[in-house]
Amino acid sequence: MEGLMKGKRGLVMGVANDHSIAWGIAQKLAEHGAELAFTYQGEAFGRRVRPLANKVGASLVLSCDVEDSASVSGVFETLKSEWGKLDFIVHAIGFSDKNELKGLYADTSRENFIRTMVISCYSFTEVARNAAALMSDGGSMITLTYAGSVRIMPNYNVMGVAKAGLEASVRYLANDYGPRGIRVNAISAGPVRTLAGAGIADARHMFAYQQRNSPLRRTVSLDEVGGSALYLLSDLSSGVTGEIHYVDSGYHIVSMPTLDELKR
Ligand code: NAD
Repeated sequence: MEGLMKGKRGLVMGVANDHSIAWGIAQKLAEHGAELAFTYQGEAFGRRVRPLANKVGASLVLSCDVEDSASVSGVFETLKSEWGKLDFIVHAIGFSDKNELKGLYADTSRENFIRTMVISCYSFTEVARNAAALMSDGGSMITLTYAGSVRIMPNYNVMGVAKAGLEASVRYLANDYGPRGIRVNAISAGPVRTLAGAGIADARHMFAYQQRNSPLRRTVSLDEVGGSALYLLSDLSSGVTGEIHYVDSGYHIVSMPTLDELKR
């Protein structure tokens, strides 16, 4: 099974540290022979990302802030001049003001609504457009979402609205680029302890609840999310596009807590 990504080159966006979902994915892709480029947001993250990128032999490590279109297009200009073409991208980027990841969704400010949408939703569309221009032999793109897009999760608030938009974008982009052999999918991951995850108020309670109440009675590991990303980015999933693939120990199929939980 090794070497599924041999001869493929791709960009991984969203590694902040070695707890990042993007890092779990990058390691799995590198194990299977992918050649990787990374982006990081600002120099403080750059200092953490460079040693990680070295570990997996990444050839390019570039700065990118998705709030700035010129920064996004700059990354793809570099990729064009260094590699010429691209086979896949991983978009694992999200942000919202943590002061609004608690309390009522109804209290979301206009400013944070727009910023959350631009970073957590629109950036995937912009990145996809730039990436598709380099996918001359077809390709595969994934982004990361969360079930708070379709169901209420405490405190997820405006991020749930952004993820709903992100999931709709996956379907529209899959339809736009399908005729060119470019597939677009999302992984809806269960809760993982990361920097972004820690921004959601009371996240540790939701984490523990899902451990007790998901069909597998545990949360998922970075390695497991990486495995599903490998499937979606490799030719194993060549007939799959526009899909929201849950990697959440089955939590999304549950409507009631376990009997043990109900009797607690
Ligand atoms: P993380 O903090 O490790 O990664 C989030 C990344 O977003 C960071 O690398 C950060 O630099 C980047 N980012 C934020 N604003 C940016 C900007 N303006 N420009 C460029 N990059 C920017 O956390 P993570 O949990 O690995 O998050 C990755 C993705 O997974 C996010 O989309 C998140 O919503 C999603 N997700 C997380 C969980 C979870 O429980 N942690 C569950 C499902 C989905």
